Amino acid sequence: MMLSLQTIGQAYEDMQTQNQHLLQQVADRDDFNIKLVSDSVKTKQASASLLSEKHLLQKQLHQVNSSLESSKQKLSRGEEQMKAYVAQAIKASSENRHHAITIEKTLLEVSEAEKELKWLRSAVGSSEKEYEQNQKKIAELRTELERERSEKRKLEEEYEEVKNEVMELTSENEEATIQKLQDEINDCKAILKCGVCFDRPKEVVITKCFHLFCSTCIQRNLELRHRKCPGCGTPFGQNDVREVKI
Ligand SMILES: [Zn+2]
Ligand SMILES: [Zn+2]
Repeated sequence: MMLSLQTIGQAYEDMQTQNQHLLQQVADRDDFNIKLVSDSVKTKQASASLLSEKHLLQKQLHQVNSSLESSKQKLSRGEEQMKAYVAQAIKASSENRHHAITIEKTLLEVSEAEKELKWLRSAVGSSEKEYEQNQKKIAELRTELERERSEKRKLEEEYEEVKNEVMELTSENEEATIQKLQDEINDCKAILKCGVCFDRPKEVVITKCFHLFCSTCIQRNLELRHRKCPGCGTPFGQNDVREVKI
């Protein structure tokens, strides 16, 4: 149980060594603390600087965010516009297709119309030829018509002449007929009227010769005692005179 001096001395030396070591450690720690304080000051300065920088950066960030928001809005608007353009482009494309179809159709129609025009031109050409031929025919027909008209005029003139001649002849004939009828009437009158007075009608017959006279003339003949037929001279008496009914 008793410690030796040597041991105690050793222990003391050890403690001395330990103390020196500890003292050294304290000194080191002090240096370190000084360094820490210095570092802390530096750090505070740096922190302040960083804070200031942070504020600045926050401000910038805010600006950037605001700018970004604005850009987003612009982008959104741009997208909407783009959508509208795309829709318009789709519509335009569809319209273009439609137009292309219409143009194709129109081209076809134009082609058909050109064919028809060609055909019509050819038809017009042949029609013109036909028209020329018809004009020639019409000219010929006009000439013929003119000739026929002239012939007709000539014939009408001739007809007029013949008609005049016929009229003249007819009037001559009429005159001749009238004359003939007049003669016939005179003959009849001569036959019917008394041959002595040429005025009264025959009323009596002399039965000896069968000549006829008016009653007045024969009575006068009897009263004058002439008593001969005025026609043939045959003697006759009152008894030879008879009334007749014509
Ligand atoms: Zn008489
Ligand atoms: Zn007689």
